[in-house]
Amino acid sequence: MTSLVGKTALVTGSTSGIGLGIACALAEAGANIVLNGFGPEQEAHDKIAERGAQVRYHGADLRHPGEIAALMTYAAQQFGAVDILINNAGIQHVAPVETFDPGKWDDILALNLSAAFHTIRLAVPAMRERGWGRIVNIASVHGLVASVNKTAYVAAKHGLIGLTKSVALELAQTNITCNAICPGWVLTPLVAKQIADRAAAQGISQEQAQTQLLQEKQPSQRFVTPAQLGELALFLTGEAAAEVRGAAWNMDGGWVAQ
Ligand code: NAD
Repeated sequence: MTSLVGKTALVTGSTSGIGLGIACALAEAGANIVLNGFGPEQEAHDKIAERGAQVRYHGADLRHPGEIAALMTYAAQQFGAVDILINNAGIQHVAPVETFDPGKWDDILALNLSAAFHTIRLAVPAMRERGWGRIVNIASVHGLVASVNKTAYVAAKHGLIGLTKSVALELAQTNITCNAICPGWVLTPLVAKQIADRAAAQGISQEQAQTQLLQEKQPSQRFVTPAQLGELALFLTGEAAAEVRGAAWNMDGGWVAQ
């Protein structure tokens, strides 16, 4: 089993959903955790603390490079350096391209793609100095294939996989790896909103909307869970994954196998 005792993990967007699931898995393995996000911060803090991990929180808005720099400085001040960087924070907006709000486009690109560039560029020097590091970018099946009405999200997630591959190559001769995880549907606040919108638009129940959502794309017709994604992220931090470099690893109930 991977031990992360003495290591520090920064998980962006970890006050709910997938980020919180990953933070829990890394905390179970002994890592110090820096949380970030706009969700219920105390609840997330308690979930990590009850696993015996040291935990801190910083509320940076990752659409802004200055706030990202403040978050990275804070993490280094609290624990020395970031050994494990999980770029997870993300948002979604669903609309046809011709009516897609340009402000939403900018926000999605800033958070889902550019934020990862900034955290990586700021984290790598200390990883190089310490001779070890793990970077895991939470992309999506939408980094591998597209869906309608999600132009910004699909563009950002494809970009995030490109960023992952480039960084992995630059670091290929070091003990620092960079990989992406590509989840299918996971029942988190981000997806709950899409289910609610679909139910309202079609005048159907939440349950019907949820079934429809899964049937369209996810052959298993079951949601992937944050805990399962936490285990995959934990694997990628371990020594067995030392030569997994530049991968875009889907966990998607069969979505992209179709
Ligand atoms: P979520 O809404 O539960 O989590 C998103 C997190 O990002 C929250 O902590 C939120 O507060 C934080 N956040 C939002 N805006 C922020 C900002 N400006 N600055 C800092 N933090 C901010 O959603 P989730 O489904 O757990 O999403 C996590 C990641 O997983 C996202 O990158 C998402 O694109 C990706 N993903 C989700 C699914 C899914 O089905 N839920 C599938 C594939 C990929």
